[in-house]
Amino acid sequence: MKRLTGIGASRGVAIGKVHFIDNVVKRVECDTVVDTVLEMERFEEARLKAIEMLEELRFAQMFSAMEDAYLRERSADMIDISSRVVRLLQGEAAYDVSQIKGQIIIAAKDLLPSETIQLDRDRVLGFVTSGGSQVSHSSILARTMGIPSVIGLGDQLAELVDGDMIVLDGFNGVLIANPPDKLLKDYHCKQAEYQLYRERLQTLKGVPSRTQDGVEIEIYGNIGHPSDVDSVLANDGQGVGLFRTEFLYMEYGGIPSEQTQFEAYRSVLERMNGRRVVVRTLDLGADKAAPGISLPAEENPALGYRALRICLKEQALFKTQLRALLRAALYGHLAIMFPMVISLDEIRQAKELVEICREELEQEGIPYGDMELGIMIETPAAALLSDLFAPEVDFFSIGTNDLTQYTLAVDRMNMKVGDLYDPRNPAVLRLVQIAAESARRHGIWCGVCGESAADRRLTEHYLRMGVTELSVTPASILEMREKVLSINLSTEKEHFMSRV
Ligand code: PEP
Ligand code: MG
Repeated sequence: MKRLTGIGASRGVAIGKVHFIDNVVKRVECDTVVDTVLEMERFEEARLKAIEMLEELRFAQMFSAMEDAYLRERSADMIDISSRVVRLLQGEAAYDVSQIKGQIIIAAKDLLPSETIQLDRDRVLGFVTSGGSQVSHSSILARTMGIPSVIGLGDQLAELVDGDMIVLDGFNGVLIANPPDKLLKDYHCKQAEYQLYRERLQTLKGVPSRTQDGVEIEIYGNIGHPSDVDSVLANDGQGVGLFRTEFLYMEYGGIPSEQTQFEAYRSVLERMNGRRVVVRTLDLGADKAAPGISLPAEENPALGYRALRICLKEQALFKTQLRALLRAALYGHLAIMFPMVISLDEIRQAKELVEICREELEQEGIPYGDMELGIMIETPAAALLSDLFAPEVDFFSIGTNDLTQYTLAVDRMNMKVGDLYDPRNPAVLRLVQIAAESARRHGIWCGVCGESAADRRLTEHYLRMGVTELSVTPASILEMREKVLSINLSTEKEHFMSRV
């Protein structure tokens, strides 16, 4: 028996034979070509073929049924495309995960987004990778698809050989190779229990998300595309807590017009039928790029020209979105929020632009509605200055994905430091507490919309701090409701910060 430890990226237990896939991009040797025209033609052919392959996947049923479209926005997609082109140029077909036979647990260096979406839930019992981080594409997807996974195993993965019988424990981030019978039996029980648990969760539909002592909590879903509303509704989400609008820009292949955006926002609001929809204004830059908006190459893009910083400079771009949002506000309960805020000045500038758009629409005789205005708390500066920001806005939504990266100085996409990336780090929790306390004192609501909103080890802490809304991957909504129902905030508890 061998025990390997990594990061549990998606809950659940998988038991089966491990199958290694060789999906690593090969090293490209430097070579001199004589016929450059032919070489360019070869490149163009490979590029078009790669696009064609990805287009096929894009419209695959599994892809459109995905609950969280977030991965489609990320830069790993670029790696995906380039690795396909390189493979094609080297005369290989792209590794086709869908061809794998039998039920297996996939082991890989990392899984590309397009490979992950091809995984057939009936045949792929789980996956393990040497790389990856909690907020990498493959992790977000694994959670969305309900495939148990352990990532970040590093060199330990080399201790396994193809065909090894393994137990993958996605709850604890553990892999056990060639387990003894007794352990195997225990894990079979654990697996059956979890299955029953998922079925029981269905009975929570329609039940209010209320703690035992009567505190109402809103459990919302995160979406990246209007069609993702299906899964929010299917899981009885009480609202949309984060609509990542950059997806619209990425998909559109240019800057979507005011009308195009208006229609997208209106469709979400109408389908949510009066439930709150929190739309985040454009959050481009860092690892997110969109065609039609050229961003300079930067040494430290996560600390660079991104999100609200771009919108305040490119005012025409921002105003198009704000006008579309104001118009859509007539069709439901709209809240908008600005990402990556660090100063009062930015909030005031953004609010002023909203006001200018309102006046323009008024003058043009175009109808518009009311909306809540909030900010994301995802920089340490925003948390530390939250007492100054709270009187300016209607709500805070804490983006723990970035708040963790900026507080701990740990790149959220860098697997080498993945073990240091932890939203439960007391430094991050202190900042969450400061923001929640500022919100409470100024009578505004405060939610969490980063991935840690679905971390049930943190739920009680967040609620005790005064967080009243949690926005999670739609598939996690009912689990979070169950967690909230189990909490009693009136019982005395040693304050968790006292142990820090
Ligand atoms: C966050 O930073 O927590 C967040 C929700 O935004 P994103 O993951 O899109 O950066
Ligand atoms: Mg963020």
